[in-house]
Amino acid sequence: MNILVINCGSSSLKYQLIDAKDESVLAKGLVERIGIEGSRIKHDTTGKERVIIEEVMNDHKRALELVLSSIINEEYGAIKSMDEIGAVGHRVVHGGEKFSESVIIDEEVMNAIEDCIELAPLHNPPNIMGIQACKELMPNIPMVAVFDTAFHQTIPKENYIYPLPYEYYEKYRIRRYGFHGTSHKYVSQRAADILGKDIKDLNIVTCHLGNGSSVTAVQGGKSIDTSMGFTPLEGLVMGTRSGDIDPAIIPFIMEKENIDFDEVNDILNKKSGVLGISGISSDFRDLEDIAIAGNERAKLALDIFCHRVIKYIAAYAAQMCSIDALVFTGGVGENSDIIREGICENLVCLNIIMDHELNKVRGKEAIISKNIGGVTIMVVPTNEELMIAKETLSLANNR
Ligand code: ADP
Repeated sequence: MNILVINCGSSSLKYQLIDAKDESVLAKGLVERIGIEGSRIKHDTTGKERVIIEEVMNDHKRALELVLSSIINEEYGAIKSMDEIGAVGHRVVHGGEKFSESVIIDEEVMNAIEDCIELAPLHNPPNIMGIQACKELMPNIPMVAVFDTAFHQTIPKENYIYPLPYEYYEKYRIRRYGFHGTSHKYVSQRAADILGKDIKDLNIVTCHLGNGSSVTAVQGGKSIDTSMGFTPLEGLVMGTRSGDIDPAIIPFIMEKENIDFDEVNDILNKKSGVLGISGISSDFRDLEDIAIAGNERAKLALDIFCHRVIKYIAAYAAQMCSIDALVFTGGVGENSDIIREGICENLVCLNIIMDHELNKVRGKEAIISKNIGGVTIMVVPTNEELMIAKETLSLANNR
């Protein structure tokens, strides 16, 4: 069965057509600037040249119409007709407490996703637009919602309740939800497969390090704690997000700088993190180059980034009593030997001992620890689209 995987942002739409039989990607692409002047599709069919389609796309429905016609285009498409699409899998950012796994989308599910809009006001509305567009254009094809938050619904209460008045949890659903769940689930399962062990017997810490970053403790295949919280702002230092800070800093800055809440929110989300510390860039590649050239603030930003990751790994090791595998993924985790080394060299006390030669790997699955019986350190490129396709296939088959 071919599965179409859809990931809608407010003005973008990423898609992949995956043949579930052998997990190969038949076609993929990105629609940019939906509803904005200059909208276009970059479409790649495996084995064919990239096509760029520049056309007015006022909404997600029009964008999807053009995506579908690209997928079945005689010249540069991947399949002959829409009948060859067996199911559609949608990435949905927030499933609140309602969804602890992926589900077939029906009216009740749509209502529940809408009910989560206040928890993810920037993300759930475009996800819903994508689902509605598909429903209109492919009314008879089963659709599945795969939530970023679902994997973390196994986190126990002592790890998800904030030390605030308890009524805020009851009234406003304020709690830790966690994000990047599809990625943490995928890489922890791959790690178990690579080790040839049942995930139920393993304690794994997964580090998804990219522009947005999070660490998760995966015990016996279940998330028991994660660094992102009520929103993706908590936890690690990120490209432009602060991660954990003393909350009292917020009213202090508002008063000193005479700024309102929207401005401080903007500072915490878009002007902080390694960008804020370095004053130069949010891009880790840039920062590594500049730090090597001797820039102190770029070096400081990377050191602070690594130290925050170390804190979480050590905390999760303590929670699980031991770690069998430490997994790196995301743009930085998969590619940066410098960051991986900066993290692991401070974790020798936990028997996390890196092999510096093996660590030179970039962007592919590898074991990078010394083979001396300690924690297995691994690089596992994430593949959220494949995870979404697998979950979609399994639900579509069991309908
Ligand atoms: P997002 O959270 O937007 O999905 P990614 O997971 O794609 O982000 O990660 C993007 C980050 O990965 C960028 O900061 C980029 O500099 C970094 N990155 C990519 N390749 C390398 C590399 N070879 N060395 C260091 N950082 C890298």
